[in-house]
Amino acid sequence: MKLLALLATSTIAATSVLAEDTRQLDAHEHGVGQLNIAFDGQQIALEFHAPGADIVGFEYAAESAQDRAAVDTAVATLARPLDLFALPDAAGCSVVQAAAALESEDGHDDHDHEEHAHDDHNHAEHAHDDHADEAGHTEFHAEYLLTCADPSAVTKITFAYFDTFPNALEVEVQVISDVGATSFEVERDAPTLDLRGMF
Ligand SMILES: [Zn+2]
Repeated sequence: MKLLALLATSTIAATSVLAEDTRQLDAHEHGVGQLNIAFDGQQIALEFHAPGADIVGFEYAAESAQDRAAVDTAVATLARPLDLFALPDAAGCSVVQAAAALESEDGHDDHDHEEHAHDDHNHAEHAHDDHADEAGHTEFHAEYLLTCADPSAVTKITFAYFDTFPNALEVEVQVISDVGATSFEVERDAPTLDLRGMF
């Protein structure tokens, strides 16, 4: 369980940084998601973040029924990891846990929204597409735990993710296994992560 504990620790650290520093979401780059993968025995833990722009195409607070439906659909899609990050059948992996959610910029979001309701309406016409607008950024966050009959058969991961989410261009991947931690970039035009060196 050592590697999973390590991932959990780094997840908690990242979450508290996010909570304390709202500029963290401003720093995200549209088109670029982040995936952390930890191999530990039969288990694979994954943690995924992506800008709202990549997943639903907007980062303002969903108000219309259409926008709320888009968020709900995205959360449901993100809760099916094997449809997004396809593993070789030979590995025999199944999902033990999967959770996905939309995170807004900070804990004050509802309060801010009340306060600026009039402003929002006044410049809604030009604000919605404005990336720098003070309405800020959102991110989707998901965590998965898989169990695999033969984890060493996970020699690659195919990112069907890019087919599902047309605005996504790249995923920065960090993989932790017995041989250490390695970083990768998986891009839309070459959507396969080669993991043969990780075992
Ligand atoms: Zn953004």
